[in-house]
Amino acid sequence: MGDANLDADCIFCKIIRGEIPSFKLFEDDKVFAFMDINPVHPGHSLVIPKFHTPNIFEAPPEWAAATVNGVQRLARAVEKTVSPDGINILQANGPGAAQSVFHLHMHVVPRKNGDELPMNWGIRPGDMAEIEALAADIRANLD
Ligand code: 5GP
Ligand code: ZN
Repeated sequence: MGDANLDADCIFCKIIRGEIPSFKLFEDDKVFAFMDINPVHPGHSLVIPKFHTPNIFEAPPEWAAATVNGVQRLARAVEKTVSPDGINILQANGPGAAQSVFHLHMHVVPRKNGDELPMNWGIRPGDMAEIEALAADIRANLD
């Protein structure tokens, strides 16, 4: 995987390249997983392909498949770490679906009974120390 697959200006490509810091959970040759800094609930995290593509329509199938494989690995670790009432895997395409970053990404969203989370939740910055600590716990639970 070289930078040829990435975009110079995309914020998630910058995270993959390490130009913007992130609380990394894991990476392999195809995907990068990290904590969302505006978590809906503790453990909210993201998986992105190391290939700049805006959405599910345009993603080459092998990159979409790699992203789902990464999501499965991450979701298992988040489940173990925060024992939520449930987990949603979410992926937005287009502004009408509240997509705000135009690099394909899948959310691992821990849920709480009765949280009534809307599909388009408001962005609220999380506590960075808390997110960092949880990232270490999730990493420890990765298979
Ligand atoms: P979308 O609304 O496009 O489905 O989700 C984008 C997600 O990326 C949001 O949940 C937002 O909190 C997250 N996000 C945006 N910028 C950054 C960033 O610089 N670092 C991290 N870790 N997450 C980000
Ligand atoms: Zn990108």
